[in-house]
Amino acid sequence: MRKPVLAANWKMNHGPSDARAFMRTFLARYSRRSDRSVIMFPPAVTLPDMVAATKERPDILLGIQNIYWEDKGAFTGETSASIARDAGARVALIGHSERRHVFGETDDQTRRKCAAAARAGLRPMLCVGERLEERRAGETEKVVLRQLHAGVADLDPAHMAQMLVAYEPVWAIGTGQTAEPRDASAVHALIRGALKQLAADRASEIPILYGGSVNTGNAQALLAAQDVDGLLVGGASLDPEGWATIARS
Ligand code: PEP
Repeated sequence: MRKPVLAANWKMNHGPSDARAFMRTFLARYSRRSDRSVIMFPPAVTLPDMVAATKERPDILLGIQNIYWEDKGAFTGETSASIARDAGARVALIGHSERRHVFGETDDQTRRKCAAAARAGLRPMLCVGERLEERRAGETEKVVLRQLHAGVADLDPAHMAQMLVAYEPVWAIGTGQTAEPRDASAVHALIRGALKQLAADRASEIPILYGGSVNTGNAQALLAAQDVDGLLVGGASLDPEGWATIARS
C-alpha cells in the first residue's frame, strides 16, 4: 500500500520571513500523521528557514523546485543536487510545466536532472503533462509517455523506486480548471502501466501525484480517484490554513 503524498509547490512565493510566519500557523493546524507523507517545495533561499521550522517535525519533508544537472562548477545562479541536499532538501521537483514552458526546459534536460538528483541522494519528483492543444489533438498519452521515458532514461530500477511522478496537465495549472477525477485516473493508470514496464516489481513503490488547480474543495475527490496516490498543490498551498486542510485530506 502506498501512503498518500501531499506536496506543496510554493513557486516564487514565501521568502524566509513569510515562510516562518506560515509555518507557525500551518504546524499548529497540521499535526504529525503516520498515514501520509507531506513534502514542501519552498524557494531555494527559504530552505534554511524551513529546515529550522521543521526541526521537531521529521514527518514533513522538504524539496527543491529545480536543480542543475552538473555537480559543481562555474554555473552562476544554479543549484546542484548535492548543494540542495546539503541545505536540507530530500526531494527535487524536475520538469515542472513552468520550467518546461516558461524556461524552455527539454526532455533531455529533465533526464540529466533526474540522474543528478539520484546521484546526490535526492528523490526526483518528475512532472509530466500535456498542453491544451495536445489534449485537443488526442496526444495526451503520447506526450506523457514521452516525458516519462525521457526523464527516467538514466535511472536504474533501484533509483526509479525512489522517485515520484506528478501528472500535471498544463491546462489545469494555475487556471482553476481541474481534471475530472476519472480523467486523472485514466492518465495515472497509463503512467502506472509504463512504470511497470520500466521498473518491474519496483514500480508499485512509485507514488503518482495529480496536480493542477487542486483546492480545499476538490482535494478529497481527486485523492480518492483510482490510481491517484497524492496531490501536488501550487496556489492553494500558499495559505497555511488551506494547505493544512488539504494536507489532512
Ligand atoms: C503546481 O505548481 O504544480 C500546480 C499544480 O499549481 P496550481 O495548484 O496552482 O495549479
